[in-house]
Amino acid sequence: KESNQIGWNIDNSYARLPQSFYTIQDLNPVSSPEMIILNHELAKTLGLNAKELQSKETLSMFAGNKELEDAKPLAQAYAGHQFGHFNMLGDGRALLLGEQITPKGETVDIQLKGSGRTKYSRGGDGRAAIGPMLREYIISEAMYALGIPTTRSLAVVATGEKIRRETELPGAILTRIASSHLRVGTFEYATNFTTIEELKDLADYTIKRHYPEIASDENKYLSLLNEVIKRQAALIAKWQLVGFIHGVMNTDNVTISGETIDYGPCAFMNEYDPATVFSSIDVQGRYAYGNQPKIGGWNLARFAEALIPILDEDEEKALKLAQDAVLEFPKLYHSNWLTGMRAKLGLFTEEAEDESLIENLLEIMKNNRADFTNTFRALSHDKSEDSNVDMFNTPEFSEWHQKWHERLCKQEESLEQTYELMKSSNPAVIPRNHRVEEALKAAVENEDYSVMENLLEILSNPYKDTMEPSYCSLPPESSGPYRTYCGT
Ligand code: AMP
Ligand code: MG
Ligand code: MG
Repeated sequence: KESNQIGWNIDNSYARLPQSFYTIQDLNPVSSPEMIILNHELAKTLGLNAKELQSKETLSMFAGNKELEDAKPLAQAYAGHQFGHFNMLGDGRALLLGEQITPKGETVDIQLKGSGRTKYSRGGDGRAAIGPMLREYIISEAMYALGIPTTRSLAVVATGEKIRRETELPGAILTRIASSHLRVGTFEYATNFTTIEELKDLADYTIKRHYPEIASDENKYLSLLNEVIKRQAALIAKWQLVGFIHGVMNTDNVTISGETIDYGPCAFMNEYDPATVFSSIDVQGRYAYGNQPKIGGWNLARFAEALIPILDEDEEKALKLAQDAVLEFPKLYHSNWLTGMRAKLGLFTEEAEDESLIENLLEIMKNNRADFTNTFRALSHDKSEDSNVDMFNTPEFSEWHQKWHERLCKQEESLEQTYELMKSSNPAVIPRNHRVEEALKAAVENEDYSVMENLLEILSNPYKDTMEPSYCSLPPESSGPYRTYCGT
């Protein structure tokens, strides 16, 4: 069979949950699909034959024109707090095709995003434009290469149809791979709109899929809460350490697996400033760079609340368990962040003064509008004269630099080892906003995908000094503030 040659090995475990968690959904075929990009390396890890994947058959599947054999396409139900406000949501423009069992025995979701209307669509058309789908492809793959847990991108197919936004835009469908699409919002949905039994079904399913090691814990639902708090604390620390701003940290965009999901208005920070916001709709700066850890804690408090009915039969006791668990988040976040920051500064050991050394550097960076990525990378070569980094010429920095070197002397590791650690902790390249835009412009306006392919190639090896330093350059002064948008 063709699908066997490709390597599909599909399960539908999510569809075995109670009916209230999804709606079986017919496909919404498109007129003339065309493969724009296919992730060969990812296909291989999924057990798929990239060459076979280029067949018409696969194109039809990734366009949502033909069902994957053994798959039951469905739209998932979920709710969520969007900018603080609770709403019923659900997959309004996505379909879960099924779960691929990989050669390593892992279970991953195969989801189409931009695949048309569902029961949960409310106002929207269920479609997506090429630009944002390629943007998700580029940034999610860059995050993966940076070593940050993330959903991944297997393919983008142009639909051959126009979608209506402010202007008409060419439509596209992204095939997204995730270790699951279970979200904090899935639990908020369960607790608000299903029964306690169904909430337990969801929690048991989640434990089996993501945290099998806690299945026989005395209070496994409390363990689930603790594990998710740990993963999210680790994840958000990783974001902070590379200057990633998610942009729309609503609870429906917080995964239970601890993967980054929903690359809408996200972007990487250039100059270090905790107040940095790129999203056009985030006028209050709720999801600013410096707020992400606090919002992470807020989101996990919503997760804890959703679990209260199953944490303990005694409601007061359950509430106390939930509160205590959530109080751990800031501590866990901070310790992850501190560990990561030590590595960024080449510190193998722990000294009480480390935190003030770090804070002091960040303060100088902020005052000098220093580029976050380039500053840490230049320090990793101890290239304190780097012309990209004006800050290195200031007296405050000289003073800090001396303190840093005194601190380095307190550890046994050689300077060479120190710089090795730093180089593997401070990326040379990130998806610079202007480079991403340039790649998308070439793709969307001229169907020229070479700019994107070159960018992806560079981003796949972010801790290596690139032979093309232009990928590390800052945007031209004339370009003005960068803005991102969701929902296109
Ligand atoms: P997001 O901002 O991507 O997290 O999406 C929030 C909600 O809006 C989710 O329920 C989406 O499925 C839904 N949504 C986003 N874009 C569309 C669209 N074009 N059509 C229908 N629903 C959408
Ligand atoms: Mg979302
Ligand atoms: Mg989105």
